Amino acid sequence: MLSKSQYTKYKGCPKHLWLYRNKKEVLTPPDEATQKKMARGQDVGLLAQKQFPDGVAVQEGWKNPSAAVAQTRKLMARGMPAIYEAAFLYNGIFVLVDILEKTPTGWNIVEVKSSGKHLKAIYVDDVSIQNYVVSNCGVAVEHCYLMHINTDYFQTTQEPDWKQFFLLTLLDPELTSIQEIEQDIQDIKALLAAPEPQALLDKSGCAGCEAYAYCWRDVPKDSVFEVFRSNAAREYMALGILRVQDVPPNSCNTDKLNHWVEVYRTQRPYIDRTAVAQWLNKLEYPLYYFDFETTQPVIPLWPYSRPYQQIPFQFSLHIQRKPNGPFEHYEYLFEGKEDPRYGCVEAMLKYIGDNGTLIAHHAAFEKTRIREMAKDLPLPQEQKDALLRMSERFMDTETPFKQDYLHPNMHGSSSIKKVLPSLMPEMTYEGMPVANGGDAMNAFDELYFGNLPEQEAKQLRRDLLAYCKQDTWAMVKLVDALRESV
Ligand code: SF4
Repeated sequence: MLSKSQYTKYKGCPKHLWLYRNKKEVLTPPDEATQKKMARGQDVGLLAQKQFPDGVAVQEGWKNPSAAVAQTRKLMARGMPAIYEAAFLYNGIFVLVDILEKTPTGWNIVEVKSSGKHLKAIYVDDVSIQNYVVSNCGVAVEHCYLMHINTDYFQTTQEPDWKQFFLLTLLDPELTSIQEIEQDIQDIKALLAAPEPQALLDKSGCAGCEAYAYCWRDVPKDSVFEVFRSNAAREYMALGILRVQDVPPNSCNTDKLNHWVEVYRTQRPYIDRTAVAQWLNKLEYPLYYFDFETTQPVIPLWPYSRPYQQIPFQFSLHIQRKPNGPFEHYEYLFEGKEDPRYGCVEAMLKYIGDNGTLIAHHAAFEKTRIREMAKDLPLPQEQKDALLRMSERFMDTETPFKQDYLHPNMHGSSSIKKVLPSLMPEMTYEGMPVANGGDAMNAFDELYFGNLPEQEAKQLRRDLLAYCKQDTWAMVKLVDALRESV
């Protein structure tokens, strides 16, 4: 029997389905972050069901497909207005429909997704196979919808307006044709009967796949995937060129790629000193090294925010007021249940003056958060204006590391987690209880929702403060390193 999730695996990557069916032992079980995401999806699914009241859930599901199908039929015959997890089986394909909604003349299929409004191909595949199976079971399918979260919904009240929180997108025009699905089914049968297929490696497509460790096991360190786009990397691999240093010098079509090849080949950094000096010359004292930590609640926790919006709950700030001057450190960390953005704004306006450069790594993130707070929060106009002016004064430490300062240990990435250990191996995040943005988000959840004993909560707050402080101090060190390089 084939399920709809197996069909979508096939549509995403045929090898994924082959491994799932024939070599399941090589797949990695979901990690904590994935499990959390799945749990979040279930919570959203239950909330979505409430938008179709008086419905009944089919209980059996995957555990007993034939009983689930029979129960679905009974509920349909009773004319239930909505059936949750409605089960259908046709041609060896078993599907569970999140919500089957009764209409005056037939039934609507509603697939619930906990993601934002971006329409992904995998969602269309998911609904297409449901429509194929349900229609072939003799049910008059009127429309197919995707029900997802409206990330543009600006919530101004404490409780969301669920009518605005969810968005229904009509999928009828996008659905895969019956002929194509039937061809897919034939192809799946042939695929599963054949030997293991080749992997079509793709950096973004494979990211997060449960077969990642298996499919990428023979890709060497310093592989061409670190620097080149996946298409180009696969072409190099087919030619037997597996590592960046094996690419012929000066054979790439951009200077940046040629520089990367040289960096890998010589194992020495490439530095465009003129460009780095130009970047440094734009810095104006006082220098404010600034970093936010954020939480991203699916259901807004406070008024004046949107689903999935990044909400700052902490910042660290190192200030150097004049060249070679001492550093001052300031910080903010939320307390209690209030919206942490108000505390952030108050502390930022207190510590950050009207002149000088704000410095962040990947500064677009900090700039966007500041602009959102200015736009979204009911603050006095002068505070909004001050925040907007502040957001114009950022410079980004990531900029020089994109193409003017390339280090072999950066492995093709300009993220701070790659740049920092390349230039300052002694400044590591290893062993820190809170060691990345994901850890910080989890720590926020524990402090905000959990009932931690007082001592544990105090320690977690210290860990959060230490982590964020390290991020801004890292930027101080990066600017020092850039200065030394010129
Ligand atoms: S890791 Fe990539 S190639 Fe392997 S199964 Fe997953 S998506 Fe397919």
